[in-house]
Amino acid sequence: MALINVAAMKKPSILVLYTGGTIGMMKDPRTGSLVPFDFGNIYEHMPILRNLDYVIDFYSFENLIDSSNMTPEFWIELAEKIEENYEKYDGFVVLHGSDTMAYSASALSFMLENLAKPVVFTGSQLPMGMVRSDGRENFVTSIEIAASKINGEPCVPEVCIFFENQLLRGNRATKFNAENFNAFSSGNYPPLAEVGIKIKYNREFIGYKNKTAGVTTPKKLIVHKKFDRNVGILKLFPGITLDFVKHALHTPGLKGVIMETFGSGNAPTSEWFLDELADAIRKGLIIYNVTQCKSGSVEMGRYETSLNLDKIGVISGYDITTESALAKMMYLLGEGFTRSNVKKYLQESLRGEMTV
Ligand code: ASP
Repeated sequence: MALINVAAMKKPSILVLYTGGTIGMMKDPRTGSLVPFDFGNIYEHMPILRNLDYVIDFYSFENLIDSSNMTPEFWIELAEKIEENYEKYDGFVVLHGSDTMAYSASALSFMLENLAKPVVFTGSQLPMGMVRSDGRENFVTSIEIAASKINGEPCVPEVCIFFENQLLRGNRATKFNAENFNAFSSGNYPPLAEVGIKIKYNREFIGYKNKTAGVTTPKKLIVHKKFDRNVGILKLFPGITLDFVKHALHTPGLKGVIMETFGSGNAPTSEWFLDELADAIRKGLIIYNVTQCKSGSVEMGRYETSLNLDKIGVISGYDITTESALAKMMYLLGEGFTRSNVKKYLQESLRGEMTV
């Protein structure tokens, strides 16, 4: 008698976490306005889901939000839901507004240390309940990706973003288009998968070695749940004033600043500007140099305009995105590492977020 391998027959199981945003909206036929979708009736709205033959469960957060209202507290709720259900499901799909999706995906990548299952963020430009919506395709493909395995192992054990036809590493992605279905780019890291009639996984680019800060970690999932919000972003521009820089750097309680510089990490060479930065660094502020360009890396010392930044103790963010830099700084400061360790880890790749 042939033996039946029960484990191999088990249907893939996916937990869909709905946080809010356009994707989960549909037009109320009575009023014409957009209202949140009732995921309890999802199979009625999307019978095609039955063809997947997966176990798909849904969890809707009580406080559904437009992602412009996203907060670190919400990131913690989201990570806790994944933690609670981690053993039960093969993968997770997070339905999230696209506006701040790159921040949330970055934050979750730092929170979920030793992640070994897919966490796929997706959303849409048009609500799922509209005729030409990109939401249905994004949703179904994300579920497929979250469930896909090769040799019994998940294809993409990472926090990632799926949009239109590309799967991107979450902490490398940026929303670059407010209207097109193709809304996200990843200027410094190749797509993890490209989707046409087949889903083609770029296996050599998938999977990062988790590296946390000073500890040899066991393989078990570790969820970090602390963020320090005493950070800021200072975007440089021609004509920036002393007053503006001074006020920004003297924000009460401020511990870290992401300084968005020009090109390969360049900034004005004016004495007043460098003095302000140097003074803030002396007083303990961490200044992290991230380029305004969507592709390419900070290279301090390449031009005279970045040489002095290096000398006064500004640290390099290499090719990290602003979204990822912000989440990383909040996470490292939240974990309570010493200032010198925060600076050290900011310059190392912890979750594949930068090329050093
Ligand atoms: N404003 C919406 C949000 O980010 C846009 C979207 O869902 O794509 O929540």
